[in-house]
Amino acid sequence: MDILQISKYLQYFKGIKLNKDILDQLSEFKKIAVNKGDQEEAKNIWCLEQVYKVINHFLTAYKQLEKKEYYSAWCKLERADIELHFLRRHLDYSGNKYGLEFIENIINQLQKLFPYQVFSSRESTVKKWRCSICNQVISLRNSCGHEIGEIYNGEQCFRIAEDIEFHGIAIVTNPFDKFAVLFPEGKEYNYAMLENLMKNWTNPYDKWELHIVLDLNEEFKGLGRNDPCACNSGEKYKNCCLRTGEDKHEHYKILFLEKDLKNFKRQRKQSFKTWKN
Ligand SMILES: [Zn+2]
Ligand SMILES: [Zn+2]
Repeated sequence: MDILQISKYLQYFKGIKLNKDILDQLSEFKKIAVNKGDQEEAKNIWCLEQVYKVINHFLTAYKQLEKKEYYSAWCKLERADIELHFLRRHLDYSGNKYGLEFIENIINQLQKLFPYQVFSSRESTVKKWRCSICNQVISLRNSCGHEIGEIYNGEQCFRIAEDIEFHGIAIVTNPFDKFAVLFPEGKEYNYAMLENLMKNWTNPYDKWELHIVLDLNEEFKGLGRNDPCACNSGEKYKNCCLRTGEDKHEHYKILFLEKDLKNFKRQRKQSFKTWKN
């Protein structure tokens, strides 16, 4: 395949497994472009490599979800999200080019269905940074001129951390690094929402949407604003649980929008509840 054919292959790919040879082919084409000094071409090829990685991570995550390997799937989705983030500034994929808008949207919704709430976060100071392109040590006074995230000779520029002073580990709920999920001893995460999803999500290219609505808890139904609160606090409802939101729970609904015709009879609304803990 030439580059145009690879681009078309990725654009229309609807299979479950990408052709592995493509990455090798792209890497060969990139060498040729770099040798010719064609920076534009090298960058285009880098973009195609990123597209490949995003699709591949997404499909792997889908397969892992089917096999109930939830943490692995979580990591793959995060990987896909990071690669997409790198790609975004170099490739405009609006109009669902390479199916990337679809994947981006699905990742975002899937992440909300995972039960992970606490993460560990390393607190450290980096004393020395190197440039991944030229290997120079970077300081305030000494910049090599390579810009982080830019593509040089078909490779993305990043900073390599050296000489790291480690301070400790913090437990956070909104981590920079989503891989560092904490698995507290004796506590099992509940994957019911993902399990329910996977009963109906029979093809990775099915379109579905997650709707999160707030539902009133049973004991608050029919309660007036000035009535005593159902939680027995002695306060009026309007000054108590109505204000704090304790009277409601989140209700997750998954709506399948498009399915393959052969799977049509499976099409139905999937709905289940979660409770705030
Ligand atoms: Zn540099
Ligand atoms: Zn109350």
